[in-house]
Amino acid sequence: MIYVVEMTVEQWGVRVPARQGEVVRQALIREGALDASLRVLREGSDLILPVLTKREGAARYGFEVHPGREQLPRHELVGGIAIMQEDDPSGAEKILTSRPSLHTVVCAKGEVSGEYRTREFSVLCGEPTTRTEVTEHGHRFIVDLAGAYFSARLSTERQRILDQVGEGEFILDMFAGVGPFAIILADRAAFIVAVDLNPCAVALMQENITKNRIRNVLPVLADARRLADILPWKFDRIVMNLPLAGTEFLSEAFRLCRPGGTIHFYSLVSATGEHTARIQELGGIVLAEREVRSYSPGQWHAVYDIRVC
Ligand code: SAM
Repeated sequence: MIYVVEMTVEQWGVRVPARQGEVVRQALIREGALDASLRVLREGSDLILPVLTKREGAARYGFEVHPGREQLPRHELVGGIAIMQEDDPSGAEKILTSRPSLHTVVCAKGEVSGEYRTREFSVLCGEPTTRTEVTEHGHRFIVDLAGAYFSARLSTERQRILDQVGEGEFILDMFAGVGPFAIILADRAAFIVAVDLNPCAVALMQENITKNRIRNVLPVLADARRLADILPWKFDRIVMNLPLAGTEFLSEAFRLCRPGGTIHFYSLVSATGEHTARIQELGGIVLAEREVRSYSPGQWHAVYDIRVC
């Protein structure tokens, strides 16, 4: 007789109505956020989708382990690349053969660092490259994990901002990276200026603009500290996605935003309301403050939606 022992483990889970389950599951897979080693849980008319890290609205649940998948070491997916935290070549081979869409498995060496917010990787198996293509809500992005910052985990946040953009808006992305915010918002905005200091990021952004046939994004290689001196425009909306150092650029953003315009300011915080006084001092009103994702115990990435008065 064979006894099947069902193993349950605790993990973060996101509750969604069952009819939206597949759409949200696909979005989590694209973000590399779904914990594919665990089975989706059903509670009444809701599904609980297991996710790899804490996120807004997530809570802890007990999930059954997917038979056959429990042997894969932990990894995160970005396009055709799996990123492991451990230098484990045999585990990397297992991951590479588990999914036909993968071409490379890499190991992250150290943390995201420096002005360009990049990280070093060593290739464990597959094609010797850190370049891959990511699909997000119908757009395709070429990314180079070692050359320029990209996070698939921000895809929900990009859709949240897109929902707020009105027809004909004039937008500035101050820290644009390879262009994901700018290219996604370009669907609705009139014109977007997308700035980055990293030449590799701007070169990839240019490729991504062409790939997605976008005609209203202007890529600019510049230091955001100097923008108010070199750009002759005031913007309806400004995206500031530089969570570790964004505060240094807040007054610059206020100079570049028209009265009544909106700033989406991302920052690493350890208390709710940490930047409210500074924002009010600059002449802004905090419309909303939300947690985007956890960073370390007691610290999280927050986004402040600000109205410029
Ligand atoms: N918004 C992009 C995304 O979501 O993928 C990239 C965000 S990444 C956290 C921050 C970006 O800001 C990096 O690409 C980095 O090169 C750029 N950066 C850092 N300092 C800058 C500066 N002073 N001026 C312009 N860009 C800067």
